[in-house]
Amino acid sequence: MCAVGNGPGDLEAAEFPTTQPAETIARAVQFFRARAPVAAVGIASFGPIDPDPKSPTFGYITSTPKRDWRNCDLAGAVGQALGVPVAFDTDVNGAALAEYRWGAARGLGSFIYVTVGTGIGGGAMLDGRLVHGRLHPEMGHVRIPHDRVRDPFPGNCPYHGDCLEGLAAGPAIEARWGQPGGLLPDGHAAWDLEAEYLALGIVSWTCTLAPERVILGGGIMQRQELFPKIRARVAELLSGYMEPPDLVPPELGPRAGVLGAIALANDLPVK
Ligand code: ZN
Repeated sequence: MCAVGNGPGDLEAAEFPTTQPAETIARAVQFFRARAPVAAVGIASFGPIDPDPKSPTFGYITSTPKRDWRNCDLAGAVGQALGVPVAFDTDVNGAALAEYRWGAARGLGSFIYVTVGTGIGGGAMLDGRLVHGRLHPEMGHVRIPHDRVRDPFPGNCPYHGDCLEGLAAGPAIEARWGQPGGLLPDGHAAWDLEAEYLALGIVSWTCTLAPERVILGGGIMQRQELFPKIRARVAELLSGYMEPPDLVPPELGPRAGVLGAIALANDLPVK
């Protein structure tokens, strides 16, 4: 998705599919050229990526399973074509920044934005700064307890098998139950299991990062019954040792990602 503007009230967006890098980048560049002048571009990308401005591979998509995009200099290609500075971060860090500026994390210094969809990813802000560490966290790949009697599904993460993403992302739900989550009814056993896995992930992140709030977005979290189930299980698992974080849906909805890119661009020292 591409957009120009300065925030939720000033946004013109267009969506097109991610195909080959050359074709996709050309379409994005064309979109921006048609709306010139553009002062800066922000890219909130699927990953893994290199968001470190001091690194020689800054702006690259690195070891992604999307083969054609591996080692693609995305920020470089866009910046060169448009002649403007480019801010570059993960899609989830972008969404976290957008929720911080305009949505469910306004006024908070420490929170996590998590998306549960075709994968599971998280962006964290701690003490007012987005967390990068060595490149960026991969919160969806934490290892969680897996009761193979309750859930014999082995998990489908190509790297780890039964990490959180391998057990609880959309493709895992579909592989386990034989149909996509969207077709499973409310009250199905799938949702108790899903809440269990997400609660275990949230407890790991909470014990490590102490967020005030965890924003849970993505297609799977459209299932409203998950929120109360997850809240109850997180409180139970924390056992009164720590205050559970607030667990809330995003306020920006599906626009969080593209607004994240705008927020990243707004933070560049230009103009
Ligand atoms: Zn994994």
